[in-house]
Amino acid sequence: TDKKQVFVVTGANKGIGKEIVLELAKRVKEPALIYVAARDQTRGQAAVEEIRQKVQGGKTEVEFLPLDISNEQSIKDAVSHIKSGPGYVDVLINNAGIASKGDAFDGQVAATTVGTNYTGTKNTSLAFLPLIRENGRVIIVSSMAGKLSILSPELQAKFSSPLLTLEELDMLMQSFVQAVEDGTYADKGWPKQAYGTSKVGCTALSLVLSRLPEVQKKNIFVAACCPGWCKTDMAGDKAPLTATDGAKTPVMLATAATSGLENGAYYKDQKLAKW
Ligand code: NDP
Repeated sequence: TDKKQVFVVTGANKGIGKEIVLELAKRVKEPALIYVAARDQTRGQAAVEEIRQKVQGGKTEVEFLPLDISNEQSIKDAVSHIKSGPGYVDVLINNAGIASKGDAFDGQVAATTVGTNYTGTKNTSLAFLPLIRENGRVIIVSSMAGKLSILSPELQAKFSSPLLTLEELDMLMQSFVQAVEDGTYADKGWPKQAYGTSKVGCTALSLVLSRLPEVQKKNIFVAACCPGWCKTDMAGDKAPLTATDGAKTPVMLATAATSGLENGAYYKDQKLAKW
């Protein structure tokens, strides 16, 4: 088998995603190929050039991978791109995400936010699963904004059920969007938070994916994490941490020995955390 480790980091043209690629490029000792996956060719290629400059002389190759996680055709094209390149992936880091600015909260905001953060992450993970080698990893950059406690006790029980299936999780996320559209979300136990709810879905997705037969058969490690509150375009400049700090937990989950990690779990500050 090919020894080269292949990493894919989504939303890697800036912010925490770009720092994850840099950190991986510095840290990985064996030959590696890291894909900077991004939806915009110009911004993605610019990040690739910047990272190559910074890690010159290392053993790591850095390449651009066109990928818009909210577009199913784009996901298919990215999978084909990998198939005609290395043909496999060892670690997928789902970092791409959005948060709408301002207080707008309506069906459109809920649909777009859940559509990218939850559905985009889920679709990307499922489409890449067949490419992921034995003992590979799927990491999901979620958020502490997606705490279970933002939901009613009834919804908390559903999301944290050890029996929750992917189909049921999909239905829960769809019912949130529907309830925002028809104005019944509060009565149904949902918070007035599109971003937070989308990230509850991302954290639940980690556990649900870890239980899929395909994942278990290949001994794939899955985890969700919060990078911490970091200065980026998304979080603004009041945040106490840097994007480099934010890369630490996702990179730890992508590289540390899995014997010390819990499959399907949620991590923060490089430690197992309460969801
Ligand atoms: P940025 O806004 O700086 O970066 C977000 C990245 O995601 C960009 O590269 C953006 O690309 C990309 N992206 C957005 N939508 C898509 C899409 N549909 N397809 C492909 N790429 C997409 O934010 P951060 O670096 O702060 O956020 C990274 C992750 O960390 C997110 O998942 C976020 O929710 C999470 N997070 C961040 C926190 C923080 O304090 N910063 C705290 C908790 C979690 P483009 O340039 O094309 O828009």
